[in-house]
Amino acid sequence: MSFGNFGLDREILLGVEKAGYTQPTPVQEAAIPLLLKGGDLTAIAQTGTGKTAAFVLPILQRLAERQRQGTLDGSIATLILAPTRELAMQIKESVRTYGAHLPIRVASIHGGVGEVTQIKSLRKGVQVLVATPGRLIDLIGKQQLDFSYLETLVLDEADRMLDMGFLRDIETIVDALPERRQTLMFSATFPHQVASLAQRF
Ligand code: AMP
Repeated sequence: MSFGNFGLDREILLGVEKAGYTQPTPVQEAAIPLLLKGGDLTAIAQTGTGKTAAFVLPILQRLAERQRQGTLDGSIATLILAPTRELAMQIKESVRTYGAHLPIRVASIHGGVGEVTQIKSLRKGVQVLVATPGRLIDLIGKQQLDFSYLETLVLDEADRMLDMGFLRDIETIVDALPERRQTLMFSATFPHQVASLAQRF
């Protein structure tokens, strides 16, 4: 199996090459075809398995298709929720690496950085937004975000987000999103609370 078998656009394969990957990992092999078809997914995958590329590459493929059709605009198409600032920044960098050959913008919203800077980067238009739940809630409250055109929601490290007490914030965020969307959940463990969240979303 090689990345060429997934039917990804050349721009994305160049991004994968830039990252130095030659073969998909098992989670990528299982998840990418399903996500390209538009399916929802709950995956049990630890950090280190290649889970980030497993959800980012199909997201980029959708954006690449919109670019080809001339319908790519500055609206937020994907929201990725992550428990910590470090992980959010890491995911943003991965999107930048894999998407280096596409005309897309990615931003991250998290604590520890001034809100004004983050609001400014949003105003320029971003297709992929990576966020920690707390800071995102603040910006939703200030009417700084428009999720009307959101297509995909990713909950990364869902078990950790619940452990950190983000359940209420996640529920509020999901309420602000279109009901018709693709929803992906990645979790290292699968306790009852994660199963119930997956069932609801
Ligand atoms: P993740 O589980 O997404 O945090 O990825 C763990 C590490 O695996 C990261 O350093 C990635 O750059 C790397 N990685 C992801 N996919 C592949 C792949 N197909 N081949 C080699 N390394 C990969």
